[in-house]
Amino acid sequence: MINIQEIRSQFPILKTLVRGKPLVYLDNAATTQKPQSVIDSLVRYYTSLNSNVHRGVHYLSNLASEEFENSRKTIQRFINAEKESEIIFTRGATESINLVASSYGRAFFKKGDEVIISTMEHHSNIVPWQMLESELGIKLKVIPISDEGELIIEEFEKLLSEKTKFVSIVYISNSLGTINPIKKIIKKAHSFAVPVLIDAAQAIHHKKIDVKELDCDFLAFSGHKMYGPTGIGVLYGKKKFLEQMPPYQAGGDMIKSVRFERTIFNDIPFKFEAGTPDISGGIALAEAIRFIEGIGYDEIESYETELLEYATEKVSEIPELKIIGRAKEKSAVLSFVIDGIHPHDIGTFLDVDGIAIRTGHHCTEPIMQRFAIPATSRASFAIYNKKEEIDLLTQSIKKVIQLFK
Ligand code: PMP
Repeated sequence: MINIQEIRSQFPILKTLVRGKPLVYLDNAATTQKPQSVIDSLVRYYTSLNSNVHRGVHYLSNLASEEFENSRKTIQRFINAEKESEIIFTRGATESINLVASSYGRAFFKKGDEVIISTMEHHSNIVPWQMLESELGIKLKVIPISDEGELIIEEFEKLLSEKTKFVSIVYISNSLGTINPIKKIIKKAHSFAVPVLIDAAQAIHHKKIDVKELDCDFLAFSGHKMYGPTGIGVLYGKKKFLEQMPPYQAGGDMIKSVRFERTIFNDIPFKFEAGTPDISGGIALAEAIRFIEGIGYDEIESYETELLEYATEKVSEIPELKIIGRAKEKSAVLSFVIDGIHPHDIGTFLDVDGIAIRTGHHCTEPIMQRFAIPATSRASFAIYNKKEEIDLLTQSIKKVIQLFK
């Protein structure tokens, strides 16, 4: 059994009072809060390690480089990558996907090639590919979703053909909470020799990810959604692909030598890490991993499932409320609409009670189109949330409905 009080005590921000009321933070799909160990790691870096990494010969530079590279090893072990060099530090999931679209796409796609994504992708996994449509003349093919918010897998199978050159798919939807059957998708795509990128931005803090077991070719995630800092993220890529891909950005660290006649690029992962990285963020990300592993994914999954089930049951008592996203396999996201009340009004009134939810299209406008709604209200849960907070959420929603009657 996990001790929620003990976990909460590790998050100083949870003691915040919002206009005199305790903060109820239910906007975890946007970003999670940070435990003291992650905050301390950032402070420790700037207090006693700050120095630029790699290339340095002095004491601090060696220390900072060692810690930064140790963090890469921690991430490699965390997702069970074969090689350290398969872990590339980026700014987040968005940059990771852009890196692949830009580098892999420009190098290997040609006019008429097809890339498969789905209706439930975050804009970060739509627009980078769309840009290649106009630049290279490739075609985006989109897997439709059902009324429950599940991928229609038979449609995916129909879209796959010899024209398909890439599949890029979200593991867990940030707007619907749907957990996609990515193992099945990867296997099917591989039967057509098509590489697959998994957008794990919403999965990495909820589910154990083993890239070898999944056999995904690329995996993208952000530090800030897994109790780590903002500004740091990861792209995992299989060595055989990364080695063939050209650099995404150019500058320091991504080269072996620069001559005006010819520049030789560095080996992976550095080939994709131009410029000074987010050193403190990279080091603190390893601390976030230690926080997650300290609790354990089994405990995390079972507690968060309990929270989601409790929340679903509670809000289902409100007849005016309709849940958007009712997939059988679902993670800690509860999106809903209430007839006659705009989600922004719901969010604003809940904020008066100290309850932080997110309202809007959640960077997934095609999902809103699919359900013919302008926006949803979204409560999303993390390991420090409590059932009492869900009770407060429900009470507050009921109050808003009364106000608008
Ligand atoms: N994909 C999904 C599913 C997301 O939820 C998000 C963030 N909301 C992203 C990608 C982009 O992540 P970031 O903004 O951290 O790059």
